[in-house]
Amino acid sequence: MKSNTIKLSLTLLFFLLSSFFLSAINQQFTIVIDAGHGGKDPGAIGKITKEKHINLAVALALGRQIKRNHKDVKIIYTRTKDVFIPLHKRAAIANRNHADLFISIHTNAASSRKVRGTETYTLGQHRTKKNLDVAMRENAVITLENDYKKRYHNFDPHSVDSYIMFNLMQDRYIDNSIYLATHIQKEFRKAGRRNLGVRQAGFVVLYRSACPSVLVELGFITNRSEERFLKSTAGRNKLANVIYKAFVKYKKRYDKKSKTTKNIPIVSTKQKSTRKTSRKNSKHKKTTYRIQLFAVKRKLPRNSKAFKGLKNISVHKTGSYYKYTYGKTTSYSEITKLKKKIIKKFPHSIIVGSKK
Ligand SMILES: [Zn+2]
Repeated sequence: MKSNTIKLSLTLLFFLLSSFFLSAINQQFTIVIDAGHGGKDPGAIGKITKEKHINLAVALALGRQIKRNHKDVKIIYTRTKDVFIPLHKRAAIANRNHADLFISIHTNAASSRKVRGTETYTLGQHRTKKNLDVAMRENAVITLENDYKKRYHNFDPHSVDSYIMFNLMQDRYIDNSIYLATHIQKEFRKAGRRNLGVRQAGFVVLYRSACPSVLVELGFITNRSEERFLKSTAGRNKLANVIYKAFVKYKKRYDKKSKTTKNIPIVSTKQKSTRKTSRKNSKHKKTTYRIQLFAVKRKLPRNSKAFKGLKNISVHKTGSYYKYTYGKTTSYSEITKLKKKIIKKFPHSIIVGSKK
């Protein structure tokens, strides 16, 4: 009797443990699907619908499709209902869950009713005013948050100057983000949607999430026929399917890459092993952190008032910008401390890292 009980509990324990490990193995990729806007923030407003409704419907349809076909993917939504979620919280959801991918879904608007088409954004410095306009409109939602000035270190979504910070930013996820964005636009074209291309601009929600991330603009709510398409269930499913197909490509590449990374230590010949180790070492090169105070198009004199009395300022020229930085350390906590000291004088300053 007693041994039977032990056997039973052992079997139970075995099942519990194996199901625990199986779920751990099975769910190794986390995607955060972010339906833009919601609640008191409708986003762009059309004649027959609002951006927030389109974004949510497509986000949920995308999630359903991933769930159906990819048991190894954990899906997290920033919202599943018509509620207001601040931008910083959306990114925090991704970071808290160690997301592998962040897809933000939006709908575009233009002053001309003729404009139509899809575009996908990755984080970066805008090259055209149009791209800046889109980022400005999408970032404007932070002004609906009570403490936004403090929360976003005086980032003003309506001021062009605020966007300079995206210029020097070295986004370590940029390659993966562009890969996904390119495939999304490819699939849009295949599905018969007008392709406006992959673009870059300073989106706060992408800036704050620490993983590859894209922001999709599904189409223009200001264009009559496109709005009808965006409001229809068939249209929404088609758009979700486009993003899904690109996701599948991304995931396939991700799986292949993580497999090769795991294989790296298993090398037999000496020559191979040195090559691989050196590659591995360069991957783990220490990051040097600096605080970028600002970036301007003309070189400033050493004693410029713009430095507000700070000494030992470095300057780096990238493109047509002179980037002024302060401090230099390989310790992230040290640079954060330093930033706290100067944040009042330089509210737009950012921490930048480089591996050179
Ligand atoms: Zn939007």
